[in-house]
Amino acid sequence: MTQVDVPHALCQSCRQCCHFMTPPEMTPFASRLPSDPEQTDALPPEFSITGKSLSLSPSHREGFTVWTCTLLDEEKAACGAWPGHPLDCRIYPLVFTLDQGEPWIALDSTCPFSSHRPNDWFLAKALEIRDQYWNQWDDCQKRTLCHHFSLDTFPHRTLLVRLDRPQT
Ligand code: SF4
Ligand code: SF4
Repeated sequence: MTQVDVPHALCQSCRQCCHFMTPPEMTPFASRLPSDPEQTDALPPEFSITGKSLSLSPSHREGFTVWTCTLLDEEKAACGAWPGHPLDCRIYPLVFTLDQGEPWIALDSTCPFSSHRPNDWFLAKALEIRDQYWNQWDDCQKRTLCHHFSLDTFPHRTLLVRLDRPQT
């Protein structure tokens, strides 16, 4: 099962993940499902957590509203669903995204780990993710994902692998 293992010590010093400024943008897809039940069934199961709901809790920090995943252990900077956390969390800083209507796997360079490995290392991971996941999902699942991707913006991203566009 392909995932990106970011060293825990790096995450503990960074603590950027699992906090979001503007839901649903860039949030785990599983946290968006309750508001969109028609999409729920079509999402590939790799994005769900068995037996646990994934929701976001708002708090106010320095004049901003910050949304935090309720599965996050803030003190330890650890995920309460690990190792069964959703696919989009497991592969970060690789992200599924859209560019001019086309689905891609990209590298989010706002994560400090993105500079800890050469681009070829992330490219190899992205190709594994394409083959293990994207190429196995059906067109309905891909269309649902593309709907969610369209809500996201990754201003600092490097496009790595172009994915097959789902048939309409
Ligand atoms: S942005 Fe990267 S280094 Fe920071 S907490 Fe997230 S995965 Fe860890
Ligand atoms: S499921 Fe885990 S890794 Fe994903 S956003 Fe929540 S706490 Fe973070």
